[in-house]
Amino acid sequence: MGDPGSYYSRQLKLPGWGPEGQAQLARSKVLVVGVGGLGCPALEALARAGVGTLVFCDSDKVEASNLARQTLFSAYDTGKLKVEAAAAALARSNPHVTLEPRAVRVDESNVRALVEAADLVVDGSDSFTTKFLIHDACRSAGKPLVAASAHQWDAQVRAFDFAGGPGCWRCLYSEVPEDGCVGTCADEGVAGALTAMVGSFQALTALRMLLKLETETLAEWVIDAADWTPRVLRWKPDPACDCSRGPGDWSWLRRKSVNKDLWWKDIGKEERQVVIDVREPFEIQPGEWEFFEKSGSQVEHFPFTRWAFTQPEWDTGRTYLIVCAHGIRSANALKTVPQGVRALSLAGGVAGLELR
Ligand SMILES: [Zn+2]
Repeated sequence: MGDPGSYYSRQLKLPGWGPEGQAQLARSKVLVVGVGGLGCPALEALARAGVGTLVFCDSDKVEASNLARQTLFSAYDTGKLKVEAAAAALARSNPHVTLEPRAVRVDESNVRALVEAADLVVDGSDSFTTKFLIHDACRSAGKPLVAASAHQWDAQVRAFDFAGGPGCWRCLYSEVPEDGCVGTCADEGVAGALTAMVGSFQALTALRMLLKLETETLAEWVIDAADWTPRVLRWKPDPACDCSRGPGDWSWLRRKSVNKDLWWKDIGKEERQVVIDVREPFEIQPGEWEFFEKSGSQVEHFPFTRWAFTQPEWDTGRTYLIVCAHGIRSANALKTVPQGVRALSLAGGVAGLELR
């Protein structure tokens, strides 16, 4: 594997980086949303720079149409989960970092846990809905965000330091534009050389923010490949915007939070802090609760026959996974979980798990 010191020798000489900066990066955890045209080059640069832990989310599989720009994949990867193919490529690039591939789509049910667990977020997602969700979650969590969009020959990169005072994307756009209003890359195309540059620039900005080096925020770098003059759009915080209240308010997420059924492989540890088993005592087999406990969840037992009378003391700061034999009672129990509680139902139930 070689010595990490020699691996990083060139960047250690950079002003503002050095061994302390390298140690700071090694302690950092970055969440990358979307392993596509932007996420691939961003992940590659962050891994090679030595960011200690990289969490990356994408539920898609590699398709032939991805290969012209998604630089972590080769033609041999088509049909594989993007996060698995990316993890294999990144592990070859730098064996000294920890990789946490997650085959999930980031949505209302998991965004808070994912963002809160990270030191910085890089958004390479491809829809306005997801971009605003991630932006709003970073703002509530007070976590720095580097976001970007690319479309045909144009791209924009934005950076926000939500721990550093007011100002956000919603100061400019109070409403989420409709998905598809500017056309998607699938419909209208995008240049791979452009996404490679933009994803790398996101990584560069993320590294500077982690290293606490001067970085422009509340600004959008606007690139038009037809014109060699990049433009920068700067704006001031809007005192009427929600961001003026600072981080900590998650009420917007509780209002839109959707609880749903998911398969075990799609459920992250942070989404199942507590497993609620709603089966009757006679259905529970030895080893089943140990499976959940060994996977990092606490187990509580509330049989479905008494569910109408006895439920857990729900805590909106925790995440719950309700389980039964086949996922039918748990789905019904989920419907009665109070608004604001983050809970999932295990699709397929305990019968669908490979317990050993
Ligand atoms: Zn704002």
